[in-house]
Amino acid sequence: MEGLSVATEPPSSNLARKFTSELAEYIEYPEARPECWYDWKWQLKNRIRSLEVIRELIPLSRREEEGIKRATGRLAMAITPYFFSLIDRGDQRCPIRKQAIPRLEEFTISSSEMNDPCGEDSHSPVPGLVHRYPDRVLLLVTDSCAMYCRYCTRKRMVGEELPPLSMECFEDALRYIKSKKTIRDVLISGGDPLMMKTEILETYLKKLRAIPHIEMIRLGTRVPVTLPMRVDEALVNMLRKYHPLYLSIHFSHFKEVTPDVVKSCAMLADAGIPLGSQTVLLKGVNDRPATMKKLMHELLKIRVRPYYLYQCDMAMGTAHFRTPVSVGMNIIEELRGHTTGYALPTFVVDAPGGGGKIPVTPTYLISQAKGRVTLRNYENKIYDYVEPE
Ligand SMILES: *Cc1c(COP(=O)(O)O)cnc(C)c1O
Ligand code: SF4
Repeated sequence: MEGLSVATEPPSSNLARKFTSELAEYIEYPEARPECWYDWKWQLKNRIRSLEVIRELIPLSRREEEGIKRATGRLAMAITPYFFSLIDRGDQRCPIRKQAIPRLEEFTISSSEMNDPCGEDSHSPVPGLVHRYPDRVLLLVTDSCAMYCRYCTRKRMVGEELPPLSMECFEDALRYIKSKKTIRDVLISGGDPLMMKTEILETYLKKLRAIPHIEMIRLGTRVPVTLPMRVDEALVNMLRKYHPLYLSIHFSHFKEVTPDVVKSCAMLADAGIPLGSQTVLLKGVNDRPATMKKLMHELLKIRVRPYYLYQCDMAMGTAHFRTPVSVGMNIIEELRGHTTGYALPTFVVDAPGGGGKIPVTPTYLISQAKGRVTLRNYENKIYDYVEPE
């Protein structure tokens, strides 16, 4: 992935100081050097990856310092200068900061937490492919992301920035998909598929599109949010050739909906790509109903249709991010009826061990008798529906 995932070594001493002061300047005044700032390769190359650098940019708490020291190897810290610039540096509880900067709590593992919380590895017929549902598959093509979310459900396999799925492995996955005529939908994820070179991603898309029984292709990505400049004309013009192509974009907070993100989503939507959102319910980030509602409204304004709200998976070291399931149910209760139906994502728990996504909704059906159901509405008023005889 030449030019894409540049694993920058922490620079040392003098060089580090110069690098950091330049970086700080860019982060503070991005408009001063737009030719760097809007160059996504510059953004990737200059991701914030070391304690030495981040310490110069922001005062850290002891827990953060400890977390950063320990976050090496998989899911190491990496933050694009763009995403870092969204951090409110005066606010320890900034939702952007909590998602991007490791904390010591990440290294406290509860006994119920799992390496592979959704049982993906046990549902993998060939490397890179997860086949859980009858008519669709999940294809994991790369382990790289622009920014590593501290709560990542795939932290077991994300962030080493290895080369993308090899052509041999991809061909094996392709053979499997071709052999199963029931598969009509392929979801490409990772890591983040938009971290791949446009040409390589196109090779994958072209080969999938050539399979007659593949009706639709989906991409799961967070790049339009963490590295919006990656969404350029070349990418959009490539993607639009493979319709019907859907994009599920991972959003966590309304602060992520910046003018740059508005533009990246507009380009994708203008290319006829239906956009959906995926959000992980996170303690202290988006677990208040008003915060979630605002995010959903901001998404609709940029033509992103809320799709899933996920209960945070039981991945290792995520207890400080996880809420009770009732918090998610309450958020749905506060949305349904109170705002546009399009603003409602489906709240799901991805069953630990591999049962797939299970929707969890507040109960509106109060009783079910022969020929009659009793329902409540969003205002808790009761209604009877009489069924035909
Ligand atoms: C989420 C997921 C899908 C897609 O599920 P939808 O409900 O169709 O969006 C497919 N396969 C796996 C393994 C998944 O985790
Ligand atoms: S973008 Fe997705 S895959 Fe990448 S670190 Fe975040 S949650 Fe994990």
